[in-house]
Amino acid sequence: MSVAINHPDIVEPNGTIGILGGGQLGRMLGVAAAELGLKCHIYCPDERAPAYDIAAKTTIASYTDQDALAAFAADVDVITYEFENVPAESVAYLTGLGAKVRPGAKALETSQDRLVEKQFVNTIGAKTAAFHPVDDLSSLKDGLAKVGRPAILKTRRFGYDGKGQTRIKTTETDLSAAFEKAIAFAWEEVGAAPSILEGFVPFEREISIIGARSKDGQIRLYDPAENVHRDGILKTSSVPATITDQTAENARAIATKMLQELDYVGVMGVEFFVLKDGDLIVNEYAPRVHNSGHWTQDACAISQFEQHIRAVAGWPLGDPRRHSNAVMENLIGDEAHNWRALASEPDTGVHLYGKREARPGRKMGHVTRITKP
Ligand code: ADP
Ligand code: MG
Repeated sequence: MSVAINHPDIVEPNGTIGILGGGQLGRMLGVAAAELGLKCHIYCPDERAPAYDIAAKTTIASYTDQDALAAFAADVDVITYEFENVPAESVAYLTGLGAKVRPGAKALETSQDRLVEKQFVNTIGAKTAAFHPVDDLSSLKDGLAKVGRPAILKTRRFGYDGKGQTRIKTTETDLSAAFEKAIAFAWEEVGAAPSILEGFVPFEREISIIGARSKDGQIRLYDPAENVHRDGILKTSSVPATITDQTAENARAIATKMLQELDYVGVMGVEFFVLKDGDLIVNEYAPRVHNSGHWTQDACAISQFEQHIRAVAGWPLGDPRRHSNAVMENLIGDEAHNWRALASEPDTGVHLYGKREARPGRKMGHVTRITKP
């Protein structure tokens, strides 16, 4: 198929936002777009996806189906994504057709590979955990010698919610049979795929910053949130975070630098470890709206979802100020069955994703409880 796409720089009301990915993030982006008088077209390979319920149009096709991608690009006014594992080649193909894809290829590609991501973070002068690329058992041994123990072995690509990673705690002497067994087990655990070994960061707490950058370089940052994980999955995000003003300022400065260096357009989530002395270590970033920013729906006039739509549509960014304190709690698996009781709690925003089956570990919804600041 040969089509020339000419996306406008600014998407006006009644325009269409194309979203690659059909999960709950796409669903909440679509709802936010509707509030601004925009429509959305969801592109996702799944037969069933949470975002289809709220989309004006849907395309169910593989991310590598060029005909489907071209038809999608021709139908929309700008393209964004809610899923960072959209193949980089697909984004390059869309851009080659003349489509505007926001955020751009650099932000996507850098985030897709934990090694490239950490190198990027170091390049802009921010700290990461000690790391070493691992391609086999021999580089895994070299890595352990470099980063120490305990350590975490993570696949370079496709990890999420703690999947694709395993901890190496062995205190056995190098080259002992027990040591060989422990590292062989870890290598199996990550599927013997290209990986990265990280030194374990003895953090005091985890925080994240949700930030946005417009096509004109305007930057707006939400307050840092404090995040608690359970079984590798985010359980709660709270604002304000229990950090000093100086730590908050440092986190803002790093997020700002990242947005600028990536020539970013849209909302980004940056995850940090906070050490005892307040020092910050960047864990990872997501080139999209982020679970730890869901509290903005109930505690700010402009949510991260609306902010992202504003940014990719070329609109002025909204005020990220928070009018309330908030605790966002993910409803995982069966927890969403409690919707009736949650819906009768005061000052509590209930958000359900419309997923039919409540499997263990599956994010089904979230609630945000707000209080006076
Ligand atoms: P995912 O892509 O699954 O979110 P992360 O790299 O963010 O993967 O890891 C998930 C969680 O595991 C982190 O939020 C943190 O709690 C813990 N973790 C990850 N890397 C480290 C590390 N190097 N040191 C200590 N804890 C870590
Ligand atoms: Mg993470």
